[in-house]
Amino acid sequence: MKEITILSGKGGTGKTSITAALASVAKNAVYCDNDVDAADLHLLFKPTIQETYDFSGGWAVSINSEKCDSCNLCMQYCRFDAIHQNENGDVFINSLQCEGCRLCERVCPNTAISSTENTNNHWFISTSRFGTLVHAEMGPGEENSGKLVSQIRKKAKEIGLASNHNYIINDGPPGIGCATIASLSGTNGVLLVIEPTKSGLHDAVRLVELISSFSVETYAVINKFDINLKVVREIETFLDERNIPLLAHIPFNEKMVESMTIGQTIVEYLPESEITEIIRNVWKKLITTEGLNVIK
Ligand code: SF4
Ligand code: SF4
Repeated sequence: MKEITILSGKGGTGKTSITAALASVAKNAVYCDNDVDAADLHLLFKPTIQETYDFSGGWAVSINSEKCDSCNLCMQYCRFDAIHQNENGDVFINSLQCEGCRLCERVCPNTAISSTENTNNHWFISTSRFGTLVHAEMGPGEENSGKLVSQIRKKAKEIGLASNHNYIINDGPPGIGCATIASLSGTNGVLLVIEPTKSGLHDAVRLVELISSFSVETYAVINKFDINLKVVREIETFLDERNIPLLAHIPFNEKMVESMTIGQTIVEYLPESEITEIIRNVWKKLITTEGLNVIK
C-alpha cells in the first residue's frame, strides 16, 4: 500500500477539488482529509459518518477566585504572559494567550488553579461513494492540528492495511506549519498543486524547501495554468531545477465551480471532458509511469 499526499503551498489553488477529482478515478483507495483546521473534502465526498472519536487539543486552565489570595506567583512563572490581574486585584487567565502548559497549576501554593482536557475536536471514520474517508473537525481556536493529522493518518493506514487497499490519498493542509509537517512524515509521495500566480510560486518554493528535508518523491501539476502563462514558465523552470516532474497543465474551467456547487467532482460532472482526461492521466502517471515508481 502506498500513500500519496496532495499539497499546495497556499490555500485556494484547487487542491481539494483535484484531490476529489482523483478520488473519482482512483480505485481501491482510502482517503484522509489532513486539512484538519479547515476540512472541506467532506463537502464533495458527502460521507456518512460511521464512527466518531474525541481528540484532545490541549488543556483549559482556570483560577478558582475563592482559593486565590493574589500572591501573583503564577504570573511570575507563566512564560506566555497569559495571567493578569484586574483593577479589583482578582487574578485571571486569558484563554487566548494561555498555551495550556499547566505550569501555573503546579506552582500555585493554594491549589487555586485547575485544568480540564479540551475535547472540542473530533475525528470520524466515514463511508462515501469513493470509499472510506477518515476526517476531522477542530473546534475554534483549538491547537495540536499536527497531532490530529498524525492520529487520522494512522487510522487511515490501519484501515487500508486491514482491507487490502492499494493507496491512501491524503488531502493535505495548505502552508508549511505543523499540520503540513505531520502530513508529510512517512508518506510515499507528494503531488503539489501549484497555481500560476506570484504568491502561488512563492509558497510552492517554500513548500518544496520543506519537502526536501523529508526525501519524499515529489510531483506537480499546475492548476488553472492558462490564467498566467508568464508565471507558468517560471514554475516550469523552478520544477526543472528541482527535478520535480510536472505531470499536467490543468486549464481553468468555470465548470469546476458549477460542479462543486452541486457537490460533484469535475470528473463526475463532465466525464467526457478534456479536464477529466487530464485528471485520469495524472492518476495514471502517478501509479504507472516508469520513473514514478514510488507510488506504483
Ligand atoms: S497553563 Fe501555562 S500558559 Fe497557561 S496560564 Fe498557566 S503557565 Fe501560563
Ligand atoms: S499562584 Fe495561585 S494563589 Fe497565587 S495568584 Fe496565582 S492562582 Fe492565585
